[in-house]
Amino acid sequence: MFLGCHLSISKGFLSLGREALSLGANTCQFFTRNPRGARGRELRPTDVASFLQLAAAHGFGPMVAHAPYTLNPASQDPRVASLAQDILRDDFRRLALMPGIFYNLHPGCHLGRGAQAGMDKAMELLSQVYPEDGKTVVLLETMAGKGTELGRDFAELAYMLGRFQYPDRIGVCLDTCHVHDAGYDLIEDLEGVLREFDQTIGLARLKVIHLNDSLSPRGARKDRHAKIGQGLIGLSTLARLISHPSLAGRPVVLETPNDPPGFAAEIELIRKTLGLKRAFDPANSSQGA
Ligand code: FE
Ligand code: FE
Ligand code: ZN
Repeated sequence: MFLGCHLSISKGFLSLGREALSLGANTCQFFTRNPRGARGRELRPTDVASFLQLAAAHGFGPMVAHAPYTLNPASQDPRVASLAQDILRDDFRRLALMPGIFYNLHPGCHLGRGAQAGMDKAMELLSQVYPEDGKTVVLLETMAGKGTELGRDFAELAYMLGRFQYPDRIGVCLDTCHVHDAGYDLIEDLEGVLREFDQTIGLARLKVIHLNDSLSPRGARKDRHAKIGQGLIGLSTLARLISHPSLAGRPVVLETPNDPPGFAAEIELIRKTLGLKRAFDPANSSQGA
């Protein structure tokens, strides 16, 4: 199983890879730039190459880049839309150094203009800025449905996927806190939720799982993440989800409120619960972290 967490790239990519390794992770997620959407740093090709080498040497699964969450590709405001265009173009350009990486994106908010108009706008913009020879796989994240967030149910995601110009370059990231908050019953009806996903979107298009517990009751549309086992979804449901045979091989990324030692403990807890060995055991390696 590929299991990891969200980490910072403030010290560069090699440092990110080493940190992931030291936490027992074998995948990770990072923001492509400051989450509030400021300018992204230029990626240093040698740093990225060292990172990719380290990841390959330790059997890392696919990695996930997360777009800044303030980006709103669904906005009808020309200034907001053009900022989203610039950021997305620049992210695709920089991520070309990491072929095959997943680029996770919140579809945006319609801000009262209606879901249909927002979704059309977002997918038109995304299709425009996606490079023709792009190797990056775009993932739309399942959202909690806070405010006017798009992607609050599987039908909206299916609709948006269908409007992207490069059908084999797009998929979905399932966030457990978000789908629970959006009203899907993971606890009592996991099979039913997965069946609905399969019938609406297709499980083959589910590429990454964001593993988070939730502070809120099902359907609250709040999006407040909890540590694994300390929220209202619970460890056993989350464990059943990530060990479900139909989701095998998907990278699982923790976005829980943790510092790095907290992530290490959580990764350990999940591996123990699932009866898995540590991905990387410093005591049994000559390579060090
Ligand atoms: Fe997200
Ligand atoms: Fe998420
Ligand atoms: Zn969230």
